[in-house]
Amino acid sequence: MMADKNLPFLKTYLEEIIEKFPTPFHIYDEQAIRNNARRLTAAFSWAPEFKEYFAVKATPNPTLLAILREEGFGADCSSMAELLLAERAGIVGENIMLTSNDTPAVEFQKARELGAIINLDDITHIDYLEKNAGLPDIISFRYNPGPLLQGGNTIIGYPEEAKYGLTRDQLFEAYRIMRDKGIARFGLHTMVISNELNADSFVATANMIFDLAVEIHTKLGISLEFVNFGGGIGIPYKPEQQPVDLEYLGCEIQKAYEAKIKANGLDPLRIALECGRVITGPYGYLVAKVLHKKEIYKNYIGLDACMANLMRPALYGSYHHITVVGKEKLPLDHKYDVTGSLCENNDKFAIDRQLPKIDIGDIVVIHDAGAHGHAMGFNYNGKLRSAELLMRPDKSVKLIRRAETIDDYFATLDFSCPQSLAAASKTTN
Ligand SMILES: *Cc1c(COP(=O)(O)O)cnc(C)c1O
Repeated sequence: MMADKNLPFLKTYLEEIIEKFPTPFHIYDEQAIRNNARRLTAAFSWAPEFKEYFAVKATPNPTLLAILREEGFGADCSSMAELLLAERAGIVGENIMLTSNDTPAVEFQKARELGAIINLDDITHIDYLEKNAGLPDIISFRYNPGPLLQGGNTIIGYPEEAKYGLTRDQLFEAYRIMRDKGIARFGLHTMVISNELNADSFVATANMIFDLAVEIHTKLGISLEFVNFGGGIGIPYKPEQQPVDLEYLGCEIQKAYEAKIKANGLDPLRIALECGRVITGPYGYLVAKVLHKKEIYKNYIGLDACMANLMRPALYGSYHHITVVGKEKLPLDHKYDVTGSLCENNDKFAIDRQLPKIDIGDIVVIHDAGAHGHAMGFNYNGKLRSAELLMRPDKSVKLIRRAETIDDYFATLDFSCPQSLAAASKTTN
């Protein structure tokens, strides 16, 4: 099964939308997101109270969070704003997981107020949490397996180089401290991969964590309530890549669960994930228009979108598939760099990409922008954040975040024109 790079809409449909909402914008396919959420849930239906805590940072829009809540998902937050977004979307209590690092006191306080599950990133955070927010009755720790694990990947890097989590020794010490403080409910978390397409990497993570759960029980007498394998399931950005087979993943983790957790009498143990990318990534599209064509030493297509709308190509050199709407069937016989307008030479959505002949005014769709897309936006070069639209199951379109205006841009500036300058401009006019 290769990645599907067909669009869920036709050119005429986009043209109608663009009349009302000018490009650039992100558009999300609600039905596809719901179907995908149901598929993930079904793949883990064997697990006791399986829970996916959607990583809010991937697509921090409360409309999407509420859709995912309806599908039974919780929220994985790591900042004050993300906690508030989850709350606004009606996700509360232990349906929120605070997996943060370098966490300020107010965020622990807010998490406590919401009754969220706090996942501590460091052993020193026990004291910090107790002093600043008080201890909750359930606590989770993030484990960093260090060089034990083979093959990290290039976004998170190798665990021993990653800033996250507790070492193995610290982990046991941390559970012991909490147990001795009278805490009775525990979780264990790890996230060691990112944008990984090999399902067996997750199965390996699950095995490692199940072994650890058994060891924690043997050494400390603690029966964990849940384990959380983090996020990091990849998506096939390239047409020739294959998506992770979620059914296979669920099945293999079930086998490990039976061999390790059930066999050791630790069933039921809740399984949690906190994926972002695989949930919404393939179902969000960045829609832009061609403003300029430029032929110098290379051929350039200049869009009305830029890396402020989608930073991944510039940040990671990532591939994002591009469709020129209405030209899907034409031969890919032109080679272009597809650029934005930032005064940064890495503001390119594609380099040396084979595409059909492009004309000014063409509508260009950049695929797989539904996670870590709009979310990574910024205002560099005075670029304004674009709108987010939702394509409803009945194909109607809903604006779920308006585009920023120049007034938004100026809203945070505390500035008044000095008298002398104001006077000078008056006299010259
Ligand atoms: C970023 C992140 C996620 C989500 O990662 P995806 O690649 O979007 O699945 C989950 N958990 C934590 C702690 C993260 O930092």
